[in-house]
Amino acid sequence: MVQPSAPRVVSCPICGKPVSWLPESRFRPFCSERCRDIDLGAWAAEEYRLSEKAPPAEEEQ
Ligand SMILES: [Zn+2]
Repeated sequence: MVQPSAPRVVSCPICGKPVSWLPESRFRPFCSERCRDIDLGAWAAEEYRLSEKAPPAEEEQ
């Protein structure tokens, strides 16, 4: 069933451009592959930073 109403529109979290929430919008909630890649890059950077863990504290006897 297809809804007769207009598609839901969200804002791209990277650049704020309106993105129609449709199956065709492959990169939603991002407006484009570029914005999606920017977000993925941010995630990768965050993961890298988190993996840089401090050594475990010495066990107290
Ligand atoms: Zn965007």
